Amino acid sequence: MQRRHLLAAGSATLALPAFGLDFAAPRAPAAMRASVDRIIDITVGIRPFRAQGPRIEAEKRLGKTLVHHYGHGGSGWSLSWGSAQRALALVQAGGARPGERIAVIGCGAIGLTTARTAQQAGYKVRLYAKDRPPRVHSSAATGLWTPDSRIVASEHASEAWTAEWEAMARASFKVHQGYLGLPSGPVEWHDGYVVADEGFDQPLPSYAAHGSEPDYPELSSRIADLRPQGRELAADEHPFRKPHARRFTQLVFNIPAYQRLLLEDFARDGGELVQREFRQPRDFARLPERVVVNCMGDGARKLLNDVGMTPVRGQTARLIPQPEVDYALIYRGHNLVVLPRRDGLLVAAMGEHDFGSDELQPDRAQTEAAVQRLAGLF
Ligand SMILES: Cc1cc2nc3c(=O)[nH]c(=O)nc-3n(C[C@H](O)[C@H](O)[C@H](O)COP(=O)(O)OP(=O)(O)OC[C@H]3O[C@@H](n4cnc5c(N)ncnc54)[C@H](O)[C@@H]3O)c2cc1C
Repeated sequence: MQRRHLLAAGSATLALPAFGLDFAAPRAPAAMRASVDRIIDITVGIRPFRAQGPRIEAEKRLGKTLVHHYGHGGSGWSLSWGSAQRALALVQAGGARPGERIAVIGCGAIGLTTARTAQQAGYKVRLYAKDRPPRVHSSAATGLWTPDSRIVASEHASEAWTAEWEAMARASFKVHQGYLGLPSGPVEWHDGYVVADEGFDQPLPSYAAHGSEPDYPELSSRIADLRPQGRELAADEHPFRKPHARRFTQLVFNIPAYQRLLLEDFARDGGELVQREFRQPRDFARLPERVVVNCMGDGARKLLNDVGMTPVRGQTARLIPQPEVDYALIYRGHNLVVLPRRDGLLVAAMGEHDFGSDELQPDRAQTEAAVQRLAGLF
């Protein structure tokens, strides 16, 4: 009954000539079916946040060239390709010749894209990992283009660092565009709405104001030209039960499809995947490969005792897929992000104590509360 009412409200809005001003034939967004009995999965992952930004550097150790490539916070999928190009340059500088086999440790977003980038440069690659998708933290990601999410603390974001970040973001963006239009839809563009109780000129409290999190720099303005800027909508231009809404357009990663494609491409180009856990740095010395790229994400914090790293827990849940829903939705200031992923409506919300936590136990109450906030928007 309630849903029928919602849809009716949507089509009533359709009749308004002002609705969806940018389109010749405006179409009302289909209502999201937000109810807790539609939750089909809850996944927890750890963001490998490093206050100084990702570690991309080489060292000679244990008779190997060890290229460290970890610590991408909440930006790993977004920045992956540009970051992998930096790691590849270190592999090349370390003396590895094309045709030689190198080792990549880790099978998350960073390991897979590093392995592909190395293969494309002519290297043979053997991937070693304790776990593979979907049992890696990268599998829990929301799937938004967010190259500036928990990627560095303000105090470490010098101009030189920021310029390097911008170059990586731009390079990564370009590669992601090459994955558009494929049958499994690893990468897609979607419109989205940010809805709010208060005007967009009202500032939100910074992450730092919530307690333990550091202050993060504003980086997105450096790459503002990479996507449409969106605009604020008048009340009769959107169907949401909130006074304020903006429309944006954003790159979305269908994580399972993207991972699967990367694994298939890796195998097709002769890549080998070996299940192995490294318990101490000395284990690197036992590998037959001369050049080893360490893409262990949060695993590097533990193995190398990198005290600059902080685990940041994140939980994503999926509601039964609704192919008719093709827009993202963000409830500003209310800790809710929803994406129209092919494997379900992806609902992401932060928990109060997630910064500094590596607790992998799902918290269903947290997800149910987020779904209820979502239901209130329609
Ligand atoms: C909830 C959540 C939402 C996110 N949303 C987004 C988003 O919308 N957009 C975005 O760009 N990014 C997002 N991220 C961030 C992104 O997922 C991370 O930056 C990324 O997962 C880091 O990838 P990784 O490959 O470094 O690490 P992981 O995915 O953790 O992979 C590490 C690999 O190393 C292996 N490994 C670890 N330790 C060992 C060991 N001792 N021996 C052998 N192998 C080992 C693991 O088995 C695994 O294969 C999100 C993350 C989370 C958790």
